Amino acid sequence: MLETLSFEDLRGKVCVITGGAGVLGSTMVRAMASTGMKIAIADINKEIADEVAEEIAAESNAEVIGVAANVLDKESLEQAKTIINAKLGDIDILINGAGGNSPQATTKVEQMKEEDIDNLEDTFYGLEMEGFDKVFALNFKGTLLPTMVFTKDMLSHKKGVVLNISSMNSYRPLTKIPAYSAAKASVNNFTEWLAVHLAKVGIRVNAIAPGFFITNQNRFLVMDEKTGNFSPRGQKIVDNTPMGKFGEPEDLQGATLFLISDISNFITGVVLPVDGGYNAYGGV
Ligand code: NAD
Repeated sequence: MLETLSFEDLRGKVCVITGGAGVLGSTMVRAMASTGMKIAIADINKEIADEVAEEIAAESNAEVIGVAANVLDKESLEQAKTIINAKLGDIDILINGAGGNSPQATTKVEQMKEEDIDNLEDTFYGLEMEGFDKVFALNFKGTLLPTMVFTKDMLSHKKGVVLNISSMNSYRPLTKIPAYSAAKASVNNFTEWLAVHLAKVGIRVNAIAPGFFITNQNRFLVMDEKTGNFSPRGQKIVDNTPMGKFGEPEDLQGATLFLISDISNFITGVVLPVDGGYNAYGGV
């Protein structure tokens, strides 16, 4: 007979979440705290990481700490791991939440028209490599490096979970953001590659592909600052989401707990869309 399913296996487990001070990351931390997990918010912004950790620890009674870490710097990640091991113990779960886009890696026009040929600045040809490199590195290398560092304890226990954060852009690129789209596609590919590589040593590797949530990194693209209404791009997103709305960060909580818990013991190498049906919709 089937025993009642629960997330009880997560109680006491230690999770590191990079970028955990952000909008989506902190919502995931809240979900994990509710199960009695111990959580380290590893973020480049230590001050906000501490604030978020204190706030969530106070409201949940869970052990939550903030730790300084730059996902692009292996040494800083190793220092963070030493602190986490000393304060919380061995790491059981890693969520690679740091990521995002930047205006420096964003074209001004969606599609080139003939008149743009005389003004390449606003198109693909005007992209600065510096901005492109930064966004690509943050999302791809920023997933790879923390995984190298934070899964070492899992190897000794022959058990562990990695959860990457991908995006709808990984399946079909959105206009304007080629670096972010390519990087998230590479996160999906890496999720599958690493799931295979680590399957026999007990580490599962999956990803969540969030649909559209209004956060700091995309507000400038989807909202009209002056009117407070959706921008034409924001409206297009809603029109192409069968559920007809942006997601709430809390919508990611169930998928997060499901994929990090033993409930999904036989699931590895998948990318789970949490998107109100966006990915399933052909637009007609
Ligand atoms: P956010 O900007 O609110 O949070 C990102 C966090 O990462 C911040 O706390 C920031 O300080 C931290 N960070 C940035 N660079 C870092 C670095 N080098 N090292 C360590 N930490 C660093 O972003 P969010 O909207 O919560 O996004 C979280 C993840 O979800 C990202 O990977 C993002 O690409 C992805 N995502 C977001 C959306 C959305 O609609 N917001 C949709 C799909 C995917």
